[in-house]
Amino acid sequence: MLDATHLGRETVYAKIPDIADFCKTYLAVDPAEKPMPVQPTAHYAMGGIPTNVDGQVTTGAVTYEGLYAAGECACVSVHGANRLGTNSLVDLVVFGRRAGMHVAEYVKGASMPAIPNGAEEAAIKKLERLRDGSTGPHVGPFYTEMQDSMMAKVGVYRNESPMAEAVDEMQALREKFRDVRAEDTNAKFNSEILGILELENLLDLSLLTAASALNRKESRGAHSREDFPERDDPNWLKHTLATLDGDTVSIDYKEVDTSVWEPKPRVY
Ligand SMILES: Cc1cc2nc3c(=O)[nH]c(=O)nc-3n(C[C@H](O)[C@H](O)[C@H](O)COP(=O)(O)OP(=O)(O)OC[C@H]3O[C@@H](n4cnc5c(N)ncnc54)[C@H](O)[C@@H]3O)c2cc1C
Repeated sequence: MLDATHLGRETVYAKIPDIADFCKTYLAVDPAEKPMPVQPTAHYAMGGIPTNVDGQVTTGAVTYEGLYAAGECACVSVHGANRLGTNSLVDLVVFGRRAGMHVAEYVKGASMPAIPNGAEEAAIKKLERLRDGSTGPHVGPFYTEMQDSMMAKVGVYRNESPMAEAVDEMQALREKFRDVRAEDTNAKFNSEILGILELENLLDLSLLTAASALNRKESRGAHSREDFPERDDPNWLKHTLATLDGDTVSIDYKEVDTSVWEPKPRVY
């Protein structure tokens, strides 16, 4: 609970009017009179689809022509391991703009690539399987199990064995997930299918996050390990490049460009 009642009604409503409004609207709590319930949540996903400063997807070694990413889903490598307050706007207004300008130039000379026959079949088969009317486990508990495991074991303070458990738990959930079917078999406006597809992606990302965090044996920015509390530049000043192939996570690395700013400890 966050208690602001000692500040007095006037100050509470002057300083945090929107939060006070949320508390009243969603929780029927008046923060001038009662403490506000608070809970940690994921604020931002650092890392993401690796890009250069023009939004082109690149591993460093390979650049994927015509494939772009910008925004929070991208990793343009501007935040390091600690995206400071307000700086995600940079992802959007600077690198989103740069990516847009690059795309506009690129399409002038690009022709439509040939799409292989039957390219859509895998997606159609997947949707048909989800809507085949058979019964499987319901999708709801998967969300809760994934969230509980990731929150408890790959959360703010991290250690080897809980993270290893989380990796196993995400693998087990992905295995069980294969039997999930939608109860709603409608082809249109099927929000249950949307939830299932989203969960599938989240399970993959959770596995990759847990495996990458387990692999990185140091603390850096928001990756805070109690068993490796120090930053270790000689071994770990590099990006993790994680790939998921079936159930196998492989980890490679991408260099960090420190030519503009040298990494320094956070001393404030
Ligand atoms: C509580 C909170 C507070 C924050 N405060 C700040 C702050 O003070 N300052 C700051 O700089 N940053 C802040 N951030 C971070 C910032 O808000 C985000 O990084 C930023 O909004 C991301 O924008 P985006 O356009 O990249 O992604 P999003 O805003 O996540 O947009 C992605 C869009 O893609 C859509 N989408 C997803 N999948 C599909 C699909 N398959 N097909 C079609 N559409 C799809 C989604 O519905 C969504 O609309 C905050 C974040 C949170 C959660």
